[in-house]
Amino acid sequence: MPTRLPATADAVILGGGVMGASTAYHLCKAGIQKVVLLEREPFFGTGATGRCAGGIRYQFNTEINIRLSQISLPMLDALEEETGISALIRKCGYLFVLTREIDVEHFQKTVELQNRLGVSTEWLDSQEVRKLAQPCFFEDALAGCINREDGLADPHSVVSAYINAAKRLGASCVTECNVTGIEMDGEHIAAVQTNQGSVSTRIVVNACGPWSQKPASWVGLELPVKPLRRQWLVTEGITAIPESFPFVIDFAQSLYFHSEGPGILTGMSNPHERFGEDQSIDPLWEENHIEKAIQRMPLLGATGIKARQAGLYEVTPDAHPIVGKTPVDGFYVVTGFSGHGFMHGPVCGMLLSELISEGHTKSLDISELELDRFENSQLNREYNVI
Ligand SMILES: Cc1cc2nc3c(=O)[nH]c(=O)nc-3n(C[C@H](O)[C@H](O)[C@H](O)COP(=O)(O)OP(=O)(O)OC[C@H]3O[C@@H](n4cnc5c(N)ncnc54)[C@H](O)[C@@H]3O)c2cc1C
Repeated sequence: MPTRLPATADAVILGGGVMGASTAYHLCKAGIQKVVLLEREPFFGTGATGRCAGGIRYQFNTEINIRLSQISLPMLDALEEETGISALIRKCGYLFVLTREIDVEHFQKTVELQNRLGVSTEWLDSQEVRKLAQPCFFEDALAGCINREDGLADPHSVVSAYINAAKRLGASCVTECNVTGIEMDGEHIAAVQTNQGSVSTRIVVNACGPWSQKPASWVGLELPVKPLRRQWLVTEGITAIPESFPFVIDFAQSLYFHSEGPGILTGMSNPHERFGEDQSIDPLWEENHIEKAIQRMPLLGATGIKARQAGLYEVTPDAHPIVGKTPVDGFYVVTGFSGHGFMHGPVCGMLLSELISEGHTKSLDISELELDRFENSQLNREYNVI
């Protein structure tokens, strides 16, 4: 039986991807009574979350992103204990391969910072990189780094885990519910309008991912979050891939490979892609991607394509998310993860629930992720974005 839209709520969350699902669960867990989660598609997790490559990592170049991972990745480890559904984690390690001097300089500093914060990333010379990357070829590798605790998890399992657990705690999770507007009562939020009717509430969380600009505009806010297409493909089975094959990233080309079932999942970011909501596969970019992928991993030339996927990153000017309060009373945002939001879904849902239920975050100071940072011209950009 589909869940009906309640008439009132203590908090309404817009968007049922990993952010919305995690926020709904953590709000219920924090004791908020009437939590309502609205998703316009027939199923939860079919936006960016369901199209993502599933990578989870500690290797970032800003302290805030590393700290988010330090809380979020253990939450994924504990997901089954917490909710009854496993995140299906595979700790294959992320191997960044560096072929440009400038990246070597950046990553050396990054690894130092990670180590200082207690993250056990290892610096590698070119020979070690070549050995670990096989059957990829990197004659031009200058150096690299690996963190063996990085790896992969399953986005659909994580979303189901949080949705099911939120429902058990009393949340109303409604699909095929397109949010069309927000009603204000002076300076306060009064209700959320949808194709199924309206729900009165004082608190709204905008977790609409690549589509989060529009709900913000309904309350008069300009959110610097833009949708940007990214795509990947999975090959047919390849027998020569060692079980230890890590998540390999050719950083200079934004080209990556990891095992996916019996095949290889590979993606490559198009630096000329324009902002927009097109989620179809770009066949010309795929051709270019395959050519570059075969140069690195010649084995791919002898195999077919089994599946392909395109989706949207939700990109901010500094490649950091926007999480927290806004100038509009009762309107919160959790968006703008710029290509690495799946792995930070658990912690960000929890942080938002702390903010809403207690007025401040206690697990981590996230004031630097607030919307008002864009008024400042000195943004601290995350370099380690693929
Ligand atoms: C190709 C690709 C690869 C990626 N790889 C990784 C990776 O390896 N690791 C990683 O951590 N991250 C990765 N990401 C990024 C990650 O997927 C996102 O950062 C994350 O999933 C964002 O989650 P979200 O819940 O904010 O957004 P979404 O999952 O997009 O959820 C937003 C939801 O809001 C709904 N919605 C929008 N408007 C409305 C409305 N008006 N009414 C009701 N519902 C609405 C949408 O239907 C959608 O379901 C990748 C992304 C892509 C596209």
